[in-house]
Amino acid sequence: MKQHEWFEPGVALRTQLYIDGFWCAGEGGQRLPVVNPSTEATIAQVEAGNAADVDCAARAAARAFRTWKKTTGAQRATLLRAIARGVSDRRDHLAVLQSLNNGKPLDEARIDVGDVIATFDYYADLAEQLDEIGESAVSIPGDAYRATIRREPAGVVALIVPWNFPMVTTAWKLAPALAAGCTVVLKPSEVTPLPELELAAIVADAGVPGGVVNVVTGTGTEVGAPLAAHPLIAKVSFTGSTAVGAQVMKTAADTIKGVSLELGGKSSIIVFADADLDLATDLVAGGAFFNAGQMCSATSRVLVERPIADALATRLADRVTRTVVGDPFKAGVQMGPLANRAQYERVQRYIARGKDDGARFVIEGEAPAGPGYFVKPTMFVDIPTESPLWREEVFGPVLCLRSFDSEDEAIGAANDTEFGLVATVVTRDAGRGRRVAAGLDAGVVWLNAPQAIFPQTSWGGYKRSSIGRELGPFGLAAFQEIKQVLMPAGASGAPECVRGA
Ligand code: NAD
Repeated sequence: MKQHEWFEPGVALRTQLYIDGFWCAGEGGQRLPVVNPSTEATIAQVEAGNAADVDCAARAAARAFRTWKKTTGAQRATLLRAIARGVSDRRDHLAVLQSLNNGKPLDEARIDVGDVIATFDYYADLAEQLDEIGESAVSIPGDAYRATIRREPAGVVALIVPWNFPMVTTAWKLAPALAAGCTVVLKPSEVTPLPELELAAIVADAGVPGGVVNVVTGTGTEVGAPLAAHPLIAKVSFTGSTAVGAQVMKTAADTIKGVSLELGGKSSIIVFADADLDLATDLVAGGAFFNAGQMCSATSRVLVERPIADALATRLADRVTRTVVGDPFKAGVQMGPLANRAQYERVQRYIARGKDDGARFVIEGEAPAGPGYFVKPTMFVDIPTESPLWREEVFGPVLCLRSFDSEDEAIGAANDTEFGLVATVVTRDAGRGRRVAAGLDAGVVWLNAPQAIFPQTSWGGYKRSSIGRELGPFGLAAFQEIKQVLMPAGASGAPECVRGA
């Protein structure tokens, strides 16, 4: 594969830990290879952090918290906007890093970078608002006392993120954590540490004081688990698989840490017979094949009303066979490789199992033979509902289509899962659209809309998909403690509204 012009010898990739404002080697003296999933070539060796590095980072964050928590929202907003500008200035460079390390097409990587900028700008605004609402009077009965509620930063927080949207999942945590006045130890995925390390450099250049943001690269066992256990960490905000999320929750329980979890999904797109078929085809393909299907929000279960089932299947079959899979830097490529070998092998196992499970028919697209973790986009029609392909999160470019006869049946089929992250509904009947949206156990419903996500809204799901919500004011609240202050009504210092969180 042609190297992108930015990725030249002499342009250093960040590979060290970032602790207390310094780039440093890990205590253990070990390194981890970082692989380009399009070529399987090793592109960097990053520090393999361990529990000693976690301890060092947590202590640095605890020291920094003493002063960072006293900054005003306006001061933090200035730094958050400087980070957004820094990301914007290095937009091309970051998009290339995303594609190089994760394998997503460059156009998709650019969307990710735009999302990161929007998230930092949005939480800058919320940080500023904290100066107005950081302490507010509460109406209580009687006139003997006055009460106020203060929103204070939760403390030192651990941010643990996956590999499918590096930088985006990080920004959704880092921006609100900093806005709230928390200090941070971030653990990127060992699969995709390069974009996060570059983000750390941008944070440093923006003028964020040393110790406020610390980045420890390494494995889940060597870095993630010690972070979830560390006594100085007040809260863990985790995005990743449901199995590891449960493990993080158990570990955090020993020291009664707060946890926010963004986990897996098995989401549906429901297409009614009155739908615009072109729109439905685009929305199904986007929900299954964007980021090569490696999305917690993949709508990989397609529920289609019976009268249009064959017509939609025909259009989707055409889409599957025409999807261009290949080098993410090449113009016209719509889908890159999966991000790592383990995921590639996992998805191949699901596809093989699905073929054995008795689908009515299977349509496969084309993909380069390798090297690189390229998987053919694949569609299964009428796979039995007990097949793992229908029930479990595949996290690859695989969609399963089944038909339904009534609105209630569609809602029941969509809700028949242990997850509850998102859903899409396609219908021209606005009343039905809202009715179905209300009936779905999902934290996000897109109605005749692609999977657009605005930082002003919310992110997270029902059941085993999440605990808590990211984005919007909910994302900020996840990094705050609430304190009430009660005093005799005549006491001085009981303001209606006080500046500073
Ligand atoms: P993963 O759970 O394997 O790893 C996530 C992170 O946890 C990584 O940084 C990993 O090193 C770390 N980790 C592993 N073991 C740990 C432990 N014992 N303690 C603490 N940390 C540990 O997930 P993944 O394979 O990187 O990502 C894919 C998963 O992420 C999918 O299930 C996907 O649905 C989910 N995801 C969810 C959302 C969401 O918003 N709900 C978004 C993106 C991805």
